Amino acid sequence: MATICIICYNEKEGKDIEDDVVILAIRKAKNAIGIAKNNRLVVCPGCMEVYKQKRGKYERDLVIHAIIGGLVLLLFVLLPIFTTGFSITSLLLGLLLFALIMALSIFSHCPKIAESGMKTAQAAWKNEAVEKKAAVAAKKKAATRRKK
Ligand SMILES: [Zn+2]
Repeated sequence: MATICIICYNEKEGKDIEDDVVILAIRKAKNAIGIAKNNRLVVCPGCMEVYKQKRGKYERDLVIHAIIGGLVLLLFVLLPIFTTGFSITSLLLGLLLFALIMALSIFSHCPKIAESGMKTAQAAWKNEAVEKKAAVAAKKKAATRRKK
């Protein structure tokens, strides 16, 4: 298992990225055809600026695709209502188009850096420490009770 930067594709150390839906799907597909390398994906310090731009573009693309997809869906639901009456086929078609339009944003896909992941890990460690302290305190209490 190597550590690969997702921007320059070099083997470099850097900040971990989050395994989002797209990456999980790619990993699954690669596993299925047996070419999975299961590399650790990071952004190296040298690529951070480029990464931020790419991530920003992807986030904008997602919003734009959601808006266009939503409008298309709305059109497919509303148009039949005003003409021939509500149509399930039209609704399904609209949903299909919505999914397709959303899927197009995959071309600018750029995963998130796993900062929230770090936070939850740290929170978990903190919780563990608190629980240990509580356990020690409880033992002490029990011990003093026994003495009495
Ligand atoms: Zn890099």
